[in-house]
Amino acid sequence: MSYSLNSTHDPKARSWVTSANEETSEFPIQNLPFGVFQTKGKSDGFRIGVAIGDSIVDMPKALASGALEGLSNDAKLALGASSLNAFMALGKQNWSQVRASLFAALSEDSGAQNVLSDCLVTLSDAEYAVPAQIGDYTDFYTSIHHATNVGKLFRPDNPLLPNYQWIPIGYHGRSSSIEVSGHSFHRPKGQLKPPTADTPTLEPCKRLDYELEVGIYIGTGNELGSAIELDNAEDHVFGLCLFNDWSARDIQAWEYQPLGPFLSKSFASTVSPWIVSMEALAPFRQAWQRDVADPQPLAYLDSDSMRESGAVDMKLEILIQTTAMREQGVAAESVAKSNFNHSYWNIAQMVAHHSVNGCNLRPGDLFGSGTLSGPSADSVGALLEATQGGKNPITLSNGEQRTFLEDGDTVVLRGYCDNSNARRIGFGEALASILPAI
Ligand code: MN
Repeated sequence: MSYSLNSTHDPKARSWVTSANEETSEFPIQNLPFGVFQTKGKSDGFRIGVAIGDSIVDMPKALASGALEGLSNDAKLALGASSLNAFMALGKQNWSQVRASLFAALSEDSGAQNVLSDCLVTLSDAEYAVPAQIGDYTDFYTSIHHATNVGKLFRPDNPLLPNYQWIPIGYHGRSSSIEVSGHSFHRPKGQLKPPTADTPTLEPCKRLDYELEVGIYIGTGNELGSAIELDNAEDHVFGLCLFNDWSARDIQAWEYQPLGPFLSKSFASTVSPWIVSMEALAPFRQAWQRDVADPQPLAYLDSDSMRESGAVDMKLEILIQTTAMREQGVAAESVAKSNFNHSYWNIAQMVAHHSVNGCNLRPGDLFGSGTLSGPSADSVGALLEATQGGKNPITLSNGEQRTFLEDGDTVVLRGYCDNSNARRIGFGEALASILPAI
């Protein structure tokens, strides 16, 4: 089901882009994530790039240089676009060929160095776009720890609803307000009705929160009316990014029944610029397990190969920098660490479930994993959980407290994969800052 290991995963492989060989580099030659960038302040046109060390391979330029071998004409055409959708639509074989070609051309002993070194742009000179046109965005709810923590706030005796252990719960989100890391957005306004008030009022949200999620980009889609089988599901997935699905908890509390969240979620979401391919993640796959005491998945959500390698060991972190910290030159401070492998439902199950009714997925569609809280108090992926619904503030090192986010706060998500058999690969960051309400 998932990719097997090959020479592009060799932990000893090195690049002539020497910064990629530094142990701290997020983008070693084993990673090769895709994004869309242009030169900062130059408006020289957004184009596809691949991160390597402290640089980006400018793909249109690299293709024109002739340094990349073994690519199909379809891939060459698709990689000349200003978003990744056409390349995503080409499928697994083309994605793999491009990865292998880049790996060969960027390898330490490659003869392409002379030509390809003219096709590099330094990361610090780049600005990014959302790497694909996201037609549809679906947000799941795959952490049972998050579902239980949030459920407890509303239903202390019965935190987990009975469908949770049978269905990968999700809702259709809003794609127009998904922005790339580095943006700022205004605190949303909406209808608030605290339990003590008789009538709602239109006001700036007072309970603004982050959600630590993984974004899952669909590559090849499916025809309307057809379903994607579980064991083929990951063939339809292009790769993963970091995803902050900002949430207005007070707007949510008043609006969410009976149809689910609406304006409490649609004002902003943040993606990291780089998409790490499923092939790059091959060394970090883990067995997916379902507690024997729990209901086992229905047949369309279960298989041996999915159980063998259905989970991803992806380490995640949330950091906050307040206005005061920024003014004092203090770096963002870590407030929680978690892992994608805490999710109760995995990527293949999300894809298979989403399409089982015949719903068509399209290249560039985005799934949010849902808030990826782990089992412990220091691994919760939202302030709603960390503060028990705003009752117990968290305290930062400089003494500042937060129940929910304040204007001027910057929230950073980071992620990486590592283990003793593989080269560590990073996801970069998903960063955004909060401006006062308009
Ligand atoms: Mn969410």
